[in-house]
Amino acid sequence: MTTSPTARRTTRTEERLRSVIASRRRVARKVAHVASLDREELGRWASAALAETVAHAAEHSAFYAGRVPRSLADAVAKDPAAFQTVPFTTRQELADAYPLGMLAVPRREVTRFDESSGTGNGQSIAAFFSADDWVENNLVVAHLLSAVLDSSDVVAIAVPYELAGVGQDLDRALELLGCTIVPLGAASPSCSPERMVHALRRSGATALICSGTRALLLGEVARRSGIDPGRDLAVDKLLMAGEGASPAKKARLAEQWGAATYSMFGMTETNTLAMFCARQDLHLVETRTYFEIVDPRSGQLLPDGETGELAVTTLASRAMPLLRYRTGDTCQIEAAPCPCGSPLRRLRHRGRLGDRIAVGHGWASQLEIEDVVLGAMSRPPYFFAFDVDGSVLDVALPPGSAADERTRDSIAAEAARRFGATTRVGVLDVPAFEHALRTSAKPTMRNFLRATEERLP
Ligand SMILES: [Zn+2]
Repeated sequence: MTTSPTARRTTRTEERLRSVIASRRRVARKVAHVASLDREELGRWASAALAETVAHAAEHSAFYAGRVPRSLADAVAKDPAAFQTVPFTTRQELADAYPLGMLAVPRREVTRFDESSGTGNGQSIAAFFSADDWVENNLVVAHLLSAVLDSSDVVAIAVPYELAGVGQDLDRALELLGCTIVPLGAASPSCSPERMVHALRRSGATALICSGTRALLLGEVARRSGIDPGRDLAVDKLLMAGEGASPAKKARLAEQWGAATYSMFGMTETNTLAMFCARQDLHLVETRTYFEIVDPRSGQLLPDGETGELAVTTLASRAMPLLRYRTGDTCQIEAAPCPCGSPLRRLRHRGRLGDRIAVGHGWASQLEIEDVVLGAMSRPPYFFAFDVDGSVLDVALPPGSAADERTRDSIAAEAARRFGATTRVGVLDVPAFEHALRTSAKPTMRNFLRATEERLP
């Protein structure tokens, strides 16, 4: 009996689907195993995974083949200390290798091509995933999200879905948890902040994922539509992605939304690097990435507790392994165990290396300035812009806050105490500022720097 072409095609499709399911089961078993390890076992697993990553990169990545000889990969396999001699990878090198230079699997094995224009000089960098890389990432993220979310949650996702993995990744992870997803995206002309607020209300969303700045904007848009986010919306969890948030911003958002705030941290080229726990702390995702804190000048490895630049090595990225990738983030690793019981160490994010601003008698980060200003403001809208002129901190506030003496005095006192700076307060051009926020896919503190302002005479 002969088989028809249609029947042969059907058989091939079935075989293909069976093999996809088998590989997903294999990845799921791996993720469950690694998630069950205690601190000591995790350390051993990471050393072995690190050696495998270096060997894979040396053998299959055109980029690393020229910089990591096979002998170095062998040395790392014998002694983890040899890893310290692996050269760093920089963002500029990723930009130079764009689009396919970092690829370490045959092109047909790539499931996703993402890219980021990032926070650097605007040059694009690419990010690839094989099917296994992607599924593993989704499963790891789902496992971490389950610390605060379950199938009863309705989760609105207001982060970019376009070319960046973050929206898609959270979307799939939440689907795995059985949550209801409201995919709002970020700054699409067809989904205005007003529409987002109404979608939050109509869907009964219990959690909102977005940057802290977008949450402030949505809170303000809701207020103007007569909706009190704390009273009229069911959102009781704000999961913040895409930018760091100062303590004052977290407190402001918690109060405005009547919600607990949680932080996550990652980048397109690495995916999620750190995720919140039920105790609202931030844990490194050591089950798929290896972390180091290095001296930004000498590159010397620093011990836990010291502040330096975060460098990451992927442990579960076949398509695009990264070795000692300098993230440009100023961080500290807290090794003491968290009360939540997780074996994963905690991350203290101190801002971007390039975000240090000379002011007063020293340096301040955007987050520290945000902390001073948002901490002093007592009325909406919670928008502001700032600039630095030598020892003077120029702050532009919405008219109501600018006219409030207590707000002005509090900013001046804190800026003097923390930075040794004197303060000048001006009036913010709120419509222009809000336009910048509305049209940005990634509204962050950077928008504050670009905002137009008008000084008081
Ligand atoms: Zn914890």
